[in-house]
Parts: sequence; structure tokens; C-alpha cells
Amino acid sequence: MKKSLLIALLFCLFSSAAFAALKHDTIATRFIQYSDFEEVQTDVYISPHSTDKQKQDLINLVENAKSRIKKVFGSYTASPVIIFSPVPRIRKKYSNNSYGKALLLPFSDSKAYIVIGENGNNLDVIAHELMHAEVFKRVGYLNQMIEIPVWFNEGVAMQVDFREQYENSTMEKSFESLEYGWQFFKGSSEEITQHYSLAKAQIKRWRQNKEPDYLYDFLEAINNGKRFNQLYFQPKNKF
Ligand SMILES: [Zn+2]
Repeated sequence: MKKSLLIALLFCLFSSAAFAALKHDTIATRFIQYSDFEEVQTDVYISPHSTDKQKQDLINLVENAKSRIKKVFGSYTASPVIIFSPVPRIRKKYSNNSYGKALLLPFSDSKAYIVIGENGNNLDVIAHELMHAEVFKRVGYLNQMIEIPVWFNEGVAMQVDFREQYENSTMEKSFESLEYGWQFFKGSSEEITQHYSLAKAQIKRWRQNKEPDYLYDFLEAINNGKRFNQLYFQPKNKF
């Protein structure tokens, strides 16, 4: 067998194996409606054997998280699929994050899939993930992937996430060096906490001199084809 053919075959074998492994939780999440999870409200799923109290708490938290976003940004329009499991063994089929994860898929009508884990069953984490869903809904998949830097996306979500450990940004680092996931989510847990704090502080400063609804106007302009770097770094909101 020619060496190049062997390399090509090996590449196909390993890349498809990696692809399948990577996508297993994505597929499980995307097709949650065919699982044994209970739909306690439209598009809100909880793992089997959950108690009535756990179901009601989840419904209340989701409603309170939506209210928090409305209070901070004026409106909330996203309708993500929300999946919650308080049982780590079950949650791991959908997400390796015990707090929360927002999964953005192409061809999904900009509908996010949110997986809440056993440590994320609280208002801050749920509001944070719903805010990711809101940004995604407003800009769509391609803009989200191409235009929106990770520091911006996380900084916006942190505006409705009031956890104390993200309040003080002490890191001497440029937020612009955290454009991609491999930069933002890299480092010790202390460093990653500081990345979130830095992004939060940056977006807070950015919003301070703007109208209250500036974020949504900004996202609409991105959705209409404006480039992120041109808009974000200009002094005033001139669309
Ligand atoms: Zn986030």
C-alpha cells in the first residue's frame, strides 16, 4: 500500500472516531425529546425520577432568570431548549460541565440548547446561559462563530451573572487576547475566573456610556452585516 494512501486512511479513521466521540453528547442533547427526560414546560426537560420540588424549582429559576435579563437589558426573546439533571452520571451524557453549557448548532433557527448540571441549579448560572441563548438568537450561527469574540460573549452573559468571585478583575491582561475559546478557557481555575471577571468588567465599561438598549441594537447591526471590530471600537453607537 502506498504510504500516502495509508496516511489518508489513518486520518479518516482517527478523525471520524474523534468526530463521533465529540458529537455523542451533541446528538443526545439535540434529540432530548426522544429521551426519558420529562418535559416540565415547553422545551424545559428534567432527568427522570426528579421530585416535584425539583421540577417546580427549575420552572421558577428559569422564570426568574428571564426576568433578570429583562430587567438588565429590557427584553428577552430567546426560546432555548433547557435540559437539567441533578444526577452527574446522567448529566455527563449531555455535557461535561457540572455548571452549565450553551450549545449552539447550525440549522437550528438560532435556538440554543442549554444543559444545566448539578452545580448550576441557581439563578446566576441559568441567567448566564439564557443570555448566551439570547445573543445567539439575535445574531445567528455564522455571525456568532465568525464575528463574536469569546470575551464579548462571556462578558455579556456575566452582566446577568452576579456570582461574587467574578466581581473583581485584577488581571493585567488585554481582553482582546481572549478572542478564542482556546485562549479564554485555558489556564488554572483561578486564571479562568479572572478571564470571566475581565470580560465582565470590559462589557460593564462599554455599556456605561450607552443607551440601556444598546446591546440589542449592536447585535442587530452585526446581524445586518456590520463587522464586530468596526462597531465595538468606535466611540459612539453610529450604525
Ligand atoms: Zn458562558
